[in-house]
Amino acid sequence: MIYLDHNATTPPAPAVIAAMLPVLSNLWANSSSQHGPGQEAKRALGTARATVARVLGCKPVEVIFTSGATESNHMAVRGLLAMAAPGRRRVVFSSVEHAGHLRLARALADSGVQVDFMPVLANGTLDLPAAKALIGPDVALVSLMAANNETGVLMPVNEVAALTQAAGALLHVDATQFIGKLPFNFSSLGADAVSLSAHKLQGPKGVGALLLRQGIPFAPQTLGSQERGRRGGTENLAGIVGLAAALELLGDIGLEAARLTMLRDTLESGLARALPDTHIWCQNVARLPGTSYLRFGQLSVDVVLQRLERLGVAASSGAACSSGGSEPSHVLTAMGVPAEEALAAVRLSLGRTSTLEDVSYLLNALPPLLAPLLHEEILTAP
Ligand code: PMP
Repeated sequence: MIYLDHNATTPPAPAVIAAMLPVLSNLWANSSSQHGPGQEAKRALGTARATVARVLGCKPVEVIFTSGATESNHMAVRGLLAMAAPGRRRVVFSSVEHAGHLRLARALADSGVQVDFMPVLANGTLDLPAAKALIGPDVALVSLMAANNETGVLMPVNEVAALTQAAGALLHVDATQFIGKLPFNFSSLGADAVSLSAHKLQGPKGVGALLLRQGIPFAPQTLGSQERGRRGGTENLAGIVGLAAALELLGDIGLEAARLTMLRDTLESGLARALPDTHIWCQNVARLPGTSYLRFGQLSVDVVLQRLERLGVAASSGAACSSGGSEPSHVLTAMGVPAEEALAAVRLSLGRTSTLEDVSYLLNALPPLLAPLLHEEILTAP
């Protein structure tokens, strides 16, 4: 199988699994227990926390382990909003946040919080002047992703951090797609809170972290003594050790980013050459190295994915499945893309296991399968 869906999840690295197995077998004691085995688990937790902090450029006390980015996102927004000054009740999200995060935005709005959305431009980048107009003195918190999971477009985190600081507001950044793909340092980002998830960077599923700047008032959303009272519940020690191992494996991110950019550009130029109806979104703006978001004419994404499946290639659509059918991607819709084009969106996302052979195979095998369909589409167009 050729796996081109690394933005959905990544295969866990063998070294990650090797680091987790002894924890599952031997370090199963509760790290809150006072006995020897419990204290041993506690030491392993501390070691993992120190590693996470070192790789991500924060202090160990700023790391709160969670079940993944969805939880981190929710607890950041709710936990920071709960402690905001009485005059600051507004929360500003970007309109292209992850679907789960936008559900939180809607839930907050339903409960009476004033919620605003920063728009994006047609090229997928944040509309900064519009963002600036929205970030005023009544804002408690701005929540912005570092990189979009569908388009790969990088968001202007530093610029928005300057705007939030000027307004006296806080900034939460969902860096789930960014960390592991491009160099990251919490202390120089200008954000107050950052979400990440292990399974996007060759770690296990169901574990992640919220990095929370020391000293920021925060209301825990799950009560208990763990994580300094900020997130209750017995820690998923094997998962946490897996997250630390995955971060340690990242090594020279710049080198890997350059390799993936080369593979992605080879893939995109090859497809565009073989199938002139190929349209690539956000091609000329700063993007994640391995993400390609495209359509072949207006061929339905289901047809394209089925052909890819036949070739043994796993990829995904940009559309979120809703009950009974597919809705056009909210990200493409926010960019002003018409529904019939958005419903043709295919996301190919490369990662550490991707090779030039994978790309060459796809470039040889896919165009002959799609060309007749595209030809038919042109003939039958109204
Ligand atoms: N935010 C972004 C940008 C994501 O891509 C994802 C995963 N698709 C999430 C949040 C949710 O992460 P998790 O699966 O760890 O809850």
